[in-house]
Amino acid sequence: MSGQTNDFDVIIVGGGLVGASLACALGSLPEAESQRIAVIESFALQSAQQPSFDDRTVALADASRQIFSGLGLWQGIETLGVAPIHKIHISDRGHIGISHLDRQSVRREALGYVATSRVLGQALQARLQTLTNISLLCPASVTDVEFSHASASLKIVHENETKQLRAGLVIAADGGNSLIRQQAEVKTLQHHYGQSALIANVRVDRPHAQVAYERFTATGPMALLPTIGTEGDTQRFALVWTEQPAQIERVLGLSDVDFLAELQQRFGPRPGQFIQVGRRDVYPLMMIHAREHVRPRLAFIGNAAHTLHPVAGQGFNLGLRDVAVLAQVIVDAWRGQRDIGSMAVLRDYARWRRRDHLQTMATTDSLVRLFSSSFPPIQLARNLGLLALDMLPGLKKVITHQAMGYVGKLPRLARGLPL
Ligand SMILES: Cc1cc2nc3c(=O)[nH]c(=O)nc-3n(C[C@H](O)[C@H](O)[C@H](O)COP(=O)(O)OP(=O)(O)OC[C@H]3O[C@@H](n4cnc5c(N)ncnc54)[C@H](O)[C@@H]3O)c2cc1C
Repeated sequence: MSGQTNDFDVIIVGGGLVGASLACALGSLPEAESQRIAVIESFALQSAQQPSFDDRTVALADASRQIFSGLGLWQGIETLGVAPIHKIHISDRGHIGISHLDRQSVRREALGYVATSRVLGQALQARLQTLTNISLLCPASVTDVEFSHASASLKIVHENETKQLRAGLVIAADGGNSLIRQQAEVKTLQHHYGQSALIANVRVDRPHAQVAYERFTATGPMALLPTIGTEGDTQRFALVWTEQPAQIERVLGLSDVDFLAELQQRFGPRPGQFIQVGRRDVYPLMMIHAREHVRPRLAFIGNAAHTLHPVAGQGFNLGLRDVAVLAQVIVDAWRGQRDIGSMAVLRDYARWRRRDHLQTMATTDSLVRLFSSSFPPIQLARNLGLLALDMLPGLKKVITHQAMGYVGKLPRLARGLPL
């Protein structure tokens, strides 16, 4: 496809967390120097409105740290601000079930890391701007896309003009409401949990000691992630509180004092005394799974392929593993002079990702359903499960490895190898 104006080898639609990560992976490769790659993103670089790079806190699995390290991005992210997670305390409110995951059991420096999407966005965008072989078309939005056997054509609105582009491969990284997915008429499996997530930063009266808390309640799961606040403040957690939308609206409207009192009542004394809460934001939650992840000239990554409930903090981690695998499949095809938009190549990506997608989605979905149930036999089973987990170190190690993102056959980046 190279050589003609408005013709690209690869067009990535969506320059959010996942699309920008893929552009950084492909754009840094010597093989990409002869390729034309574009990223189309609705929001301008560094726009405060960029929805993917907002103030929500993201728990990064250890495999994600490894992938970012392989892309040469981790050091920059660390400098901008990450907090390690040394322990995860899991409990079921009002019941005896308690379990702990500990970095010592897997002999790692940390089980995972906590950063804001804004910090990740800053590191990704800074790198993107240094990659001369990537055309950044932003702010620009795709409005139409059509696929033929040989190429894809996209209509975009850029600088108040409608333009027509052609690509050998379109990568849809345009999020949960993917326009590309709708236009390609790819069917989805969807589930509305009847829950929203409220997020906020909260302070406690003592250091968090790098412990994260996952608390299941009858009305929805809650999480506290240790963060590093300004001037190294180690008493700050990022809170994710999920519940029915009407309840979340009520909690959103509480005064700070009442909000902290209700939070304390739900979490109990374990994390410390809650003394301060920052701005509160709300996100609607649902599960979306695209039934196909590749078509000729088309591949889906990140939330466009799978949108998860944030209970286990896996959505972006799963998307970053899509990036690591798709980048490897593409670069291997370039090296072997194969057509990267052909189904022969794209099927390798879809097959490879299948197990991780299904396993991560099933685990996340069952955690929400199982732990939101007030049906006594299910309550008993889940508490026995938590207690058993604490008594079976072998099982716990397997679960900890999964939570750290080490699932199935690992791509080179997740093994600490260059692409
Ligand atoms: C409350 C909450 C907490 C979370 N916590 C965690 C966590 O702890 N760990 C974790 O791993 N994940 C977490 N997630 C999930 C994570 O935020 C998402 O998985 C991640 O943002 C997905 O990134 P994405 O790039 O695929 O999609 P998005 O972030 O939705 O980005 C899509 C991008 O595409 C652009 N776009 C859309 N349409 C077009 C178009 N037509 N043309 C051009 N551009 C377009 C958008 O502007 C946007 O920049 C959480 C989510 C929520 C809601």
